Amino acid sequence: MKKFFFFLLVLVEINAYSGQPPKNIVILIGDGMGVNYVSASVLSIKNDPFRRFTVSGFSVTCSADKLVTESAAGATAFATGYRTNNLLISIHPETKEPMLTLFELAEKLNKATGIVVTCSITHATPAAFVAHVEHRNMELEIAKQFINLDLDVVIGGGKKFLTPQSLGGDRVDELNLISKIINNGYNYYDSYEKLKNNKPGNKFFALFEPVGLPKASGRDYSLGDLTKIALDYLSKQPNGFILMIEGSQIDWGGHANNQDYLLSEMEDFNTAINTVLDFAEKNGETLVLVTADHETGGMNITDGDVDGCDIELKFSTKGHTADMVPIFTKGPGEEEFSGVMDNYIIGRKLFKLLDSSYQF
Ligand SMILES: [Zn+2]
Repeated sequence: MKKFFFFLLVLVEINAYSGQPPKNIVILIGDGMGVNYVSASVLSIKNDPFRRFTVSGFSVTCSADKLVTESAAGATAFATGYRTNNLLISIHPETKEPMLTLFELAEKLNKATGIVVTCSITHATPAAFVAHVEHRNMELEIAKQFINLDLDVVIGGGKKFLTPQSLGGDRVDELNLISKIINNGYNYYDSYEKLKNNKPGNKFFALFEPVGLPKASGRDYSLGDLTKIALDYLSKQPNGFILMIEGSQIDWGGHANNQDYLLSEMEDFNTAINTVLDFAEKNGETLVLVTADHETGGMNITDGDVDGCDIELKFSTKGHTADMVPIFTKGPGEEEFSGVMDNYIIGRKLFKLLDSSYQF
């Protein structure tokens, strides 16, 4: 069965995009955001952005070794155009060799790169675009690999993975990666206030918390606010950019089977989607792609008023499911993503849009 699966991987050919490719690509990943989550947003959340898209599709989320995937393998499929086994970060499932990521290709093409997340930057989803390790829990090693790639914008949590133990961090090797970032010519901001009040005119890291950011309901800035700052800087880069934004804690709300947590994280993610769509509609050269790595919680909408004000969600698991997840696109190349496709095909199409001569 496995052999047959890899045979299929080899056979899939992605043609070069025939239109004018986008100068910029923004990938928005709602971690755990199944079609049901989008339904809940459309039915009950006031800032819902999903009706603003003209093209949509479905993604089959399996990993190389499991029907039900998780974020490391899920994000690897988008980031490399290949499926890997659950828990691996952008390495080949058999040979364990590193697989080139979209961000590494973008750097080769002199495009700017950015990451904005509400978890630690070393968490599985952002890690897959930047690092290559044998287990998603190797966050100290992932932090080191963040320094090797010349990213332009990094916003999220995860300070403790870059800070030596003697200064209150988790690094047993005593490396101070934050000093290293500053020595490498980055601006560094350790709070949202500092980032907001010092508009970055230089590449920067902004790490606000030891691990993940507070829940959306417990902070006074939105993922959309962070996204706006990232776009302000990246849009000034002459060769275009690729930006990955993750609504990381949508998944945590799903795992907790917590309706309020889930919906408030969706509302926060919506602020980022709306900010990107506003930018892209004016800019005209930006592809916006929203999707998810998997569904979390086996959630269903079981009751509520027709105006959606007292929606009721029920869950069938504390884990992930293999339900298909949605894809929404807008901008140059949008039509490439309609229909039903395997998750790694999304990655391959993005590679082709970045570099039409790229061969898998
Ligand atoms: Zn999860």
